[in-house]
Amino acid sequence: MFNNLTERLSGVIKTLRGEARLTESNIQEALREVRIALIEADVALPAIKVFIEQVKQRAIGHEVLGKLSPGQAFIGVVHEELMAIMGGDKADINLNVAPPAVILMAGLQGAGKTTSSGKLAKWLMEQKKKKVLLVSCDIYRPAAIEQLALLAEQTGADFFPVKTGQQPAEISTAALDFARKHHHDVVIVDTAGRLGIDEAMMQEISQLEQLLNPVETLFVVDAMQGQDAVNTARAFAEVLPLTGVILTKLDGDARGGAALSVRHITGKPIKFAGVAEKLTGLEPFYPDRMASRILGMGDVLGLIEEAQRTTDQQEAERLMKKMKSGKGFDLNDFQQQFQQMKKMGGMSAMLDKLPHQLSQAAQNMNVDEKVINRTEGIINSMTPQERAKPEIIKASRKRRIAAGSGASVQEVNRLLTQFEQARKMMKMMNKGGMAKMMRAVKG
Ligand code: GDP
Repeated sequence: MFNNLTERLSGVIKTLRGEARLTESNIQEALREVRIALIEADVALPAIKVFIEQVKQRAIGHEVLGKLSPGQAFIGVVHEELMAIMGGDKADINLNVAPPAVILMAGLQGAGKTTSSGKLAKWLMEQKKKKVLLVSCDIYRPAAIEQLALLAEQTGADFFPVKTGQQPAEISTAALDFARKHHHDVVIVDTAGRLGIDEAMMQEISQLEQLLNPVETLFVVDAMQGQDAVNTARAFAEVLPLTGVILTKLDGDARGGAALSVRHITGKPIKFAGVAEKLTGLEPFYPDRMASRILGMGDVLGLIEEAQRTTDQQEAERLMKKMKSGKGFDLNDFQQQFQQMKKMGGMSAMLDKLPHQLSQAAQNMNVDEKVINRTEGIINSMTPQERAKPEIIKASRKRRIAAGSGASVQEVNRLLTQFEQARKMMKMMNKGGMAKMMRAVKG
């Protein structure tokens, strides 16, 4: 995400090298670079115009203090303005009504409404301890209703069953009754995808809005659509009183422009970002962290939060101890580490949050998701006993494991050798410390 934008913006500092302070004439070049970066990222033109003007105003005459170089001072201003254009402060989800709080989901087909409904249910249950009911008003696509029912099952949220022939308005009222009766805190209402120009469908959702009186009407929009996304958001905002936006598929090959334009063009804050297909792939949207990520400074806070959210603390400590002593560390532990990484959104999601240079370095070192998945596949094909005692894996077991994971026997061998080396290292570190290990490596 944002790779191109990040690269371009990190080049801007260079244009100001050797300057003593920021002036109208010496920031011209830097501003031009920023403008090109934003155009390439598909940021809406009116947003770019305001952005550049703001940066210019604030950068000129900006005292360059202490250790900051003029380039760094300029980037500091860009950082603050990036934050500002994304809304400045984080916009929290509003649940401040007498329960049930209704959240209405709107957007184009394929934007990620149903998936986001499921993710949001999970997030509200885990982070806010809410009892959530999922409701689908997409009577036009039975598969969409089934998809939501499945998501409810996976997340543990309740699901409101729809009877055939029921209309969206009828479903909504019945679901509200049901939620009141069963003391749900939140009702998430998923709707059919529709185009802003489809008057009948827009009228339908407008009626639903009036009927449900939602505390949040969220526009779900696919970040990969760039400026188009922003234009559809505007069309919806004209008909529906939107309270916020969920920007999905930020993990895709998105140039990131939508994140920077949506707030400016619609006046509505981005409340959540979809960052992976899986159910944990929804994050509250923090303009400051996003600005840091765009500038290649990473989102280390986000990474730590994610680790805390997904890690079992006791388990982590137990594993740390094993790794330190090298005793009892086996392939079962290895497997667990892979699972933990997956919970955190996989390698690419983690790299995405690291400062630009670090994540580049990791990519250069070939920390490749495919290789990781393959390794995990091999480990998963072993029996727990084999994982606990890798030395029992002889030729016939190797053949079975290879066949089970679609790998070759050589790959299984390689994994076992690597694991054995890692275990030796751990033991050595424990016994003789770093010096002994270095000697062993050299020898
Ligand atoms: P709807 O028609 O708006 O309900 O869209 P869906 O929820 O069915 O999503 C359409 C597709 O986008 C599905 O394949 C989802 O898995 C995928 N999707 C949704 N959100 C994200 C996201 O944040 N990241 C990625 N990578 N895929 C997503």
